[in-house]
Amino acid sequence: MMSIMNYTSLPDFDHHEEVVRCVDEGSGLRGFIAVHNTNRGPALGGCRMWTYGDEAAALADVLRLSRGQTYKAALANLDIGGGKSVIIGDPRSDKSRDLLLAMGDYVNNLNVSYIIAEDSGTGVADMRVMNERTQWVAGVVEGSEHGGDPSPSTAYGMFVGIKAAVRHRFGSDNLAGMRIAIQGVGNVGYRLGALLYEAGASLYVADVFADNCECAVREFDARVVSVEEIHRTEVDVYSPCALGGAINDRTVMQIKAAVVAGAANNQLSSPLHGNRLQKRGILCVPDYAINAGGIIDIAYERAGGDQEGKRRHLDSISDTLAELFRRADESGRSTARVADELAEERFQKRSEGRHHQI
Ligand code: NAD
Repeated sequence: MMSIMNYTSLPDFDHHEEVVRCVDEGSGLRGFIAVHNTNRGPALGGCRMWTYGDEAAALADVLRLSRGQTYKAALANLDIGGGKSVIIGDPRSDKSRDLLLAMGDYVNNLNVSYIIAEDSGTGVADMRVMNERTQWVAGVVEGSEHGGDPSPSTAYGMFVGIKAAVRHRFGSDNLAGMRIAIQGVGNVGYRLGALLYEAGASLYVADVFADNCECAVREFDARVVSVEEIHRTEVDVYSPCALGGAINDRTVMQIKAAVVAGAANNQLSSPLHGNRLQKRGILCVPDYAINAGGIIDIAYERAGGDQEGKRRHLDSISDTLAELFRRADESGRSTARVADELAEERFQKRSEGRHHQI
C-alpha cells in the first residue's frame, strides 16, 4: 500500500483540508474520506463503493472526486464545499450493516464537516443505516421531492443549460425544430428527452438497452440511432448522458453538432479534447456546470425543501453558463478552463490546506 504519509505528494492531492483513512477490522471496512475545501460551507459528496484494485487507487479516486465536488458546488453558487468518500469492496457482497455503521462513525468524528450521500454502490437504505451514527447524512429526509432522487432536477438543469447554450450559439433559445441527440436515455437522459420534446425539439436517441430507446420512441417520437453512430449524427446539439469519456481521440473529430451539452461526468477524455472542439467552432458546455441540478437538489432537500428556491437556483444555471460563454469568447480560452477559473473565484482557493491524518 502507498504510504499514507505520502498522500500530499500524490498527483491528485490539491490542498485537501482533511483526508482520513477509514478502517474497521471487525466489519472489514476499508476506505477514505477526503474533504477538499469548506470555504463555502460543509463539504457534501457521495460515498462510492467499488472494488478498487488497492488502497492507492481508492485514495486517488477520493482525492480527485472530492476536488471535483468543490468546483461543482462553487460554480453552482451553493453554500457547500467539496468532499467525497470511498469504500473498498463489492457493494453486492461486501456491504454489511456493521460496515455502514463503522463508516457512519468516521463521518461523525471528522474534524471538519462532511455530509455523506449516496453514490455508485450505495443507496438511500445505506444512508439510513449511517444516519443511526451521524446526523451528517444527505438524502434521508422523509417526504423529499421525488423520494430523494436528484435526477429530475439534473434533467431540468440540463434543459435550462441547453437553452442557454442554444441561445448563445444560434441567437434564440427556441428549441422548436432543433435536432438534439441524446446518448443514454437513463434517469437523466430520458427526463431530459421529455422536456426537450415538450419544447418542440426533434430527438435522436441511443442506448445499450433497446427498451430504453423504445420508450423514447413511444413517448417522444424519437429516432433511434446506434450506439456507434449517435455522436456523429447530423444534429444541432449532441448530449452525452451515458458514461464518461464519450469525447475521445476517436470521436472528437466526428462530432457534427454545433453544441455539445451533456450530463455525463468527465465526458471529455482529457482537457485537450475540449480545446479541439473549440478549435472546430463547437460550443462545449462543461459537464459539471450543466449537470449541477442534482447537487442543487440534494442541498435544498437537506436544508428543508424550499421548492421555489430550488427552482430559482436551478434556473440560475442559465446565468452561470452565459457568464462562462462570455468570458470564454472574450479571452479565447476553452469553456472548461474558464469554468475552473470561475469556480476558483467562487471558493477562493487557499494556498495552503489543513492536513489531518489518522
Ligand atoms: P443511468 O445509469 O440511469 O443512465 C445512463 C444510461 O446510459 C443507461 O440507460 C445506460 O444503458 C446508457 N448507456 C450506457 N453506456 C452507453 C453507451 N455506450 N451508449 C449509449 N447509452 C449508454 O445514469 P443517469 O443517472 O441518467 O446519469 C447519466 C450520467 O449523468 C452519468 O454519467 C452520471 O454520472 C451523470 N450525472 C447524473 C446525475 C443524476 O442526478 N443522476 C447528476 C449529475 C451527473
